[in-house]
Amino acid sequence: MTQGISNLSSAEVIVVGGGPAGLMAAIQAGQRGRSVVLIEKNFSFAPKLLLTGHGRCNITNTSSREEYFARLGPNAEFLRDAFVHFFHPQLIKFYESRGLPIKQEAEGRCFPATEKAADVARILTDELQLKNVRIQLGKTVQQLLIGDGRIQGVQYVNGKVISSSSVVLATGGLSYPQTGSTGDGLRFAEQSGHQIVSPRPGLAGLVCQVPRWRDLKGISLYGVGLRLILGKKILFDRVGDIMATHYGLSGPVVLNASNYVSAALQAGKPVEALIDFIPATTSDQLRASLAAAGNAGIGSALNKRLTRRLVDFLLDSVKISPQKKISELNQKNVEHILDVIKNFAMPVTASLPLESAMITLGGVSLKDIDPRTMQSRKVQGLFFAGEIMDIAGESGGFNLQAAFSTGYVAGHFA
Ligand SMILES: Cc1cc2nc3c(=O)[nH]c(=O)nc-3n(C[C@H](O)[C@H](O)[C@H](O)COP(=O)(O)OP(=O)(O)OC[C@H]3O[C@@H](n4cnc5c(N)ncnc54)[C@H](O)[C@@H]3O)c2cc1C
Repeated sequence: MTQGISNLSSAEVIVVGGGPAGLMAAIQAGQRGRSVVLIEKNFSFAPKLLLTGHGRCNITNTSSREEYFARLGPNAEFLRDAFVHFFHPQLIKFYESRGLPIKQEAEGRCFPATEKAADVARILTDELQLKNVRIQLGKTVQQLLIGDGRIQGVQYVNGKVISSSSVVLATGGLSYPQTGSTGDGLRFAEQSGHQIVSPRPGLAGLVCQVPRWRDLKGISLYGVGLRLILGKKILFDRVGDIMATHYGLSGPVVLNASNYVSAALQAGKPVEALIDFIPATTSDQLRASLAAAGNAGIGSALNKRLTRRLVDFLLDSVKISPQKKISELNQKNVEHILDVIKNFAMPVTASLPLESAMITLGGVSLKDIDPRTMQSRKVQGLFFAGEIMDIAGESGGFNLQAAFSTGYVAGHFA
């Protein structure tokens, strides 16, 4: 698919990185009639996009802008201008007008009606051809060429140079490096004087140190209360679904929670997870219902509300036999049981590493980027788009929308 290599020594716009952000940037620059070269180190575009939403691609979310700002981390308002140019209605129209209907599911999550991420990628790559974007697959950019504070082009690993006065860096973060996102652009940005906010894992499982927790491996628990605290500060407090794993916690609410504790964990601060296994029942209600079942064994009484493996685990943690009759428990025993059900404490020691995190938090500092155009404030003609920037957030389609919106703006102004 590599086209016109021999004639390819310059372009009006070079886009580095063929993920969702880079593809959209190249399409939008092509739409403006610019001569565009898109460079991707893999031999096909957007390998990470193909993995999204378990292959179904949660492409965007129909939430309000305010909801996006709440979900995309402390820097999200940086996207205000980008969302004016290109938000979910425009993204949905982009696909639907090209023959791919988008359907909405719970909580505003949107997917292609075909449920195939490959269809999302295909529309983007077809559009490249229509916009006459020159494609360079299997080519890795080694460095940016900069002189007098202006971008002048890029150099491949083989030494070949392409010159241009506009370059869009859309090389992603450091998560899932097997897809090509190995942080090259972060290195280029740092070398050219941009501040890099230390990358850290986002949407990642949490490693917890709790004796015998491994016994619960594979159990999914629905509608559980998860609170993450640092000292007396509550960093996260929501109800959702969790999964017990050999290392600790995973599941949708845990992945989102990990974004809110990543900085503390990176700084080595002690974060604690508190789990409420039955948040809809208060401690008083639970105490009263146990008292009413006085002759039953504590294990079978709790099994009515919680799965047996979890009950056995929790009772073992307070050294009480599941066979013990409730009427034989003393008040201290009952309070211990209530405490582990309503307030199970798990010290969190780390997130899973960046390699297995779904997104990268941190990246090129937004202080160095103009939010109206995505142009660098340090190097004229250099633009950023997508996850390379210090902006990323919760699951639900928010990250892809951010990549498409910033790609659109970068391509519009490059
Ligand atoms: C398993 C998984 C599931 C996900 N599911 C969802 C979801 O359903 N919804 C959602 O909103 N988000 C999801 N995400 C997050 C989303 O995929 C990313 O936020 C998005 O892909 C970022 O897009 P990007 O274009 O900025 O970067 P990337 O997709 O990382 O693309 C960057 C590209 O640049 C290329 N590149 C890097 N360096 C060079 C170089 N030196 N030369 C040439 N090319 C280079 C890479 O090969 C790569 O193809 C998921 C992520 C993962 C890992």
